[in-house]
Amino acid sequence: MILRLISILLALQALKHSLQVLAAGRRHHCIQLFPPHLLSSSIDKMLTASLRHLYIHCSLAPTIKLDPQDAWIEQLDYAGFAKEVTALGKELQKNTGQADVDHLNKIVSWRNIAAAIGVSTMWMPPNPLTIIALSTWTYASWTMIAHHACHGGYNRVDAGKFNSRGFALGSVKKRIEDWCDWMMPEAWNVEHNRLHHYHLGEDLDPDLVERNLSFLREMDIPKPLKYGVALALMSIWKSYYYAPNTFKELQITKWRQEGRELPTNFDPNEPVTLRMLFFPKDDGDEAIAEVINPTKFMLQVMAPFLLTRFIFLPAPLLLFPGLGPTLFSHAVVNLVLAEMLTNIHGFITIVTNHAGSDLYKFRDEVQPKSGSFYVRQVVSSANYNGGSDLLDFSQGWLNYQIEHHVWPDLSMKQYQLGAPKLEEICQKSTIR
Ligand SMILES: [Zn+2]
Repeated sequence: MILRLISILLALQALKHSLQVLAAGRRHHCIQLFPPHLLSSSIDKMLTASLRHLYIHCSLAPTIKLDPQDAWIEQLDYAGFAKEVTALGKELQKNTGQADVDHLNKIVSWRNIAAAIGVSTMWMPPNPLTIIALSTWTYASWTMIAHHACHGGYNRVDAGKFNSRGFALGSVKKRIEDWCDWMMPEAWNVEHNRLHHYHLGEDLDPDLVERNLSFLREMDIPKPLKYGVALALMSIWKSYYYAPNTFKELQITKWRQEGRELPTNFDPNEPVTLRMLFFPKDDGDEAIAEVINPTKFMLQVMAPFLLTRFIFLPAPLLLFPGLGPTLFSHAVVNLVLAEMLTNIHGFITIVTNHAGSDLYKFRDEVQPKSGSFYVRQVVSSANYNGGSDLLDFSQGWLNYQIEHHVWPDLSMKQYQLGAPKLEEICQKSTIR
């Protein structure tokens, strides 16, 4: 918890200093695309660089003339690299056992302690302990428990309900019991597990940050104001962007399965936000409402978390004679501030993993689990320092982004064990 607090405080301090030092702990296990002093802050790049400039030639086609710094692309032994990465992945899968379940249960208990502290103190006037505890509850539930369970990281062992085939799926009851957040779990599985992981850095990647924030980059306002808008978006991005955009991907999948044609003005690659859904500005926005019914979206996607977290959870406080309304309002304020904090924490530890001019983007697709696929996961993801449960918990295990993209369905423990071995393989290769 203390490490987490320190990490959040450091991150907020980083934001204060023009968001420049967010990349300070960034560690490319296997790649050093540019000298360290040229590593740019991811967020700074989101605001200043155009997407065109971020498209480094990396289609791996031999006919393309490569820049000297990209010469390694032609020299790499893709088949040999794939063989070693595949073998290590299989070894890590095979080693998944009871120790991984015990480790998961430990992380779940840390999450539960945060939840217990937060809920039992939320009646108090807004205070850092309650806010951080409530924020950690939401953060750990998503980034560590749901994220790895939904990927199938614990499907090889008996980890009870933490199996991707049923975790949080099928009913509102299951969602509330297993993982209740803004995103609908079925929609998350389509958007994240399938599209983001198997189209990383491509146009079909729904989380292509530089494209999704192009509107902000192109806004005709002074740069300091852009940072202000970025900070405001950070505090609400899960409900504002992730909830509608994940649901959009689920709806597109359903429409295609049913053989229905998407509306002419609807751009399936454009990120959908709450603003577009409820305050459409053009024909493209209007077309979104045909694919995502706003009322259905509010009832199916937003209502379970909105009601359970912000109304039903603090509601019993209203029963306290005389003090009820005061205690209830304290709790709601604590919950709202915790919601903003967990959004910022999530943004910092997630968005910076795939954004920045030091990470490659791609114009075409490759075969999953091929040599090119593995290379792309490495050069389009960034790792951050880790190695201990406390440090990894503070970053939601998102600091193993390279390993997670190479092998999306491992347990948290196997990422810790596999990271140094993958680093060794990469260092032996020509990947830079
Ligand atoms: Zn993932």
